Amino acid sequence: MSDTGCLYIVPTPIGNLQDITLRALTVLKSVDAIACEDTRHSRVLLQHFSIDKPTFAVHDHNESMMVNKVIQRLEKGESIALISDAGTPLISDPGYVLVHACREINANVVALPGPCAAVTALSGAGLPTDQFIFRGFLPVKQQAKQQAIETLLHSYCTSVFYEAPRRVLDTMKMMEQCLPDTITIVMAKEITKTFETFISGSASTIIAWLEAEQAHQKGEFVLMVGPAGKDTSDISPEAQTLMRSLQSHLPPKKAAGIVAEHYGLKKNAIYQWSLT
Ligand code: SAM
Repeated sequence: MSDTGCLYIVPTPIGNLQDITLRALTVLKSVDAIACEDTRHSRVLLQHFSIDKPTFAVHDHNESMMVNKVIQRLEKGESIALISDAGTPLISDPGYVLVHACREINANVVALPGPCAAVTALSGAGLPTDQFIFRGFLPVKQQAKQQAIETLLHSYCTSVFYEAPRRVLDTMKMMEQCLPDTITIVMAKEITKTFETFISGSASTIIAWLEAEQAHQKGEFVLMVGPAGKDTSDISPEAQTLMRSLQSHLPPKKAAGIVAEHYGLKKNAIYQWSLT
C-alpha cells in the first residue's frame, strides 16, 4: 500500500438498480469525489441511493487531461470513485488511461466486482464458458468488420461482442454471410431489464427474430458466437502452446510460419487461430 488516497473502480447497474452492491454503496458514500463518465447521467443513480458527493467528468475526450488532476488529489490523500454510465468502468468504457497511470506511480487502486453486461450475458447464454474472448465492439468499417467476423471461423472458444441497436441487424447479416449455420450464436438483449431476451441459434434465426418487430431492434445487445470447433482441431494442443509462446516474441505471421513448419500444418490456419 502506498500512502496515497485510493482510486476505487465501482461497477454500477446495467438496467436494474437492485444490482448495485452493498460495497459499491459504502464506497460511493465514503469517497471525497466521484469521477463519472457523464455526471448528468449518473446523477439519477446517485440521487436514487441518496449519495450526495461532488462529481466531475472523466470520459473518452478528457481522460488524458484529467489524469494529473486525479493523481494530485490522490497524492493529497483523497479517495476517488470512478463510475461509468452503466456496468464496469474500463470494459468498453473510460478508465484505462487513469488506472494505468495510477499503477505506474504505485497509487492505491481498488477494483470492486459488480455488474458487467458481457459476463452476465455469457453466464446466461448456454455457450461454452471454459474459455472465452471478449472483443468489445466490432469495427465500424465494413471491411474491417467482415475480417473480424471471419476470424470466428477458426475460433476455439466463445467470442463476446457489444453491439449498438442501429448496427445489430447489419452485423447479424454479415455473420449470416460469413459463418456456417452450425456455429451457435446467442443474442442477449436488455439484460436485467423488463424485456430481457436471449435468442439462440444460427444467424438467420436471430435475423428472423430481429425483423419480426421493429421493437426487437431497439435496446442494448450482447452478441456471443460459439466456438467453430472445426479447423482448430487440426491444431494440436502442443502446436497451440508453441504458437502462444512464440507469439509473445515474434510477429504473428512469422510465429505461424515456424509452427506450421514444425507440425506440418497450414500457416494461415494457425495465423487465423492465433487471432481468436
Ligand atoms: N462497461 C459496460 C459493462 O460493464 O457492461 C459496457 C459499456 S459499453 C459502452 C455499452 C454496451 O454494453 C452496450 O452497447 C451493449 O452492447 C452492452 N450492454 C450494456 N448494458 C446492457 C444490457 N442491459 N443488456 C445488453 N447489453 C448491454
